[in-house]
Amino acid sequence: MVRFMNVSKRYGDLVVLDRLDLDVAAGEMVTIIGPSGSGKTTVLRMIMTLEKIDEGVIYIDGEPLTHMEKNGKLVRANQAHMRKMRSKIGMCFQHFNLFPHMTALENCMEGPVQVLGISKDEARERAMELLEMVGMAEKSDQHPSRLSGGQQQRVAIARALAMRPKVMLFDEVTSALDPEVINEVTTVIRNLVDQHSLTMLMVTHQIGFAREISDRICFFFGGRIEEQGPPTDLLDEPQEDRTQQFLSAVF
Ligand code: ATP
Repeated sequence: MVRFMNVSKRYGDLVVLDRLDLDVAAGEMVTIIGPSGSGKTTVLRMIMTLEKIDEGVIYIDGEPLTHMEKNGKLVRANQAHMRKMRSKIGMCFQHFNLFPHMTALENCMEGPVQVLGISKDEARERAMELLEMVGMAEKSDQHPSRLSGGQQQRVAIARALAMRPKVMLFDEVTSALDPEVINEVTTVIRNLVDQHSLTMLMVTHQIGFAREISDRICFFFGGRIEEQGPPTDLLDEPQEDRTQQFLSAVF
């Protein structure tokens, strides 16, 4: 569902992604861990088309993200292709970025009505289902400023899901939260993993959470995957020195 083939990204002389190959299968939950600056967030930003690819190709759902085929050749994608590809991707950031002038419900209806062209009634019904799923139905008429960080993050997850993405990206969604509300958000993500066959890619520093919910963990170092595997293999019996050093520093 998500495939990076030989993808490189540089900022000036700094190589942030170094010929990265990464595959995430449909329905798979993959977590990226690694030291600060190893390129974790850049991977998500590239899938969101927020960063230009210097080399290589990213495929989403079998299609190149920023290019399209024309007469058997890959050419730079037009706006319509980019819009279609972006609509396959949902993202939740560390900072929730809810629209402050809208209620929780309106936040979850805005995209479906404005971008997907869904009727307001249908969008409201779907938004309420999603707010229910994240335990926020009772606060649907509240504005973000009246909600706690954990509640805002749960609304942000519902808002992303309302766009019916094929791939969900989570970037440090708990790191701006107070410890006592982190559980609210991890529970929502755990339920998503258990009950939905969404493809998910997550960046987190919470190794314990990554262990619980991931099908696979990728340890990044220097813009490449140094080591990857099921949580028990990678976390309990890391093979590479750098993985061992990183894990012994964070535990
Ligand atoms: P962290 O765990 O600290 O969030 P990360 O692994 O997610 O780190 P990235 O955010 O992907 O790291 O950044 C990788 C490197 O690219 C860092 O050294 C960062 O300073 C650099 N970088 C990111 N964005 C830019 C930019 N717009 N211009 C220049 N350098 C950048």
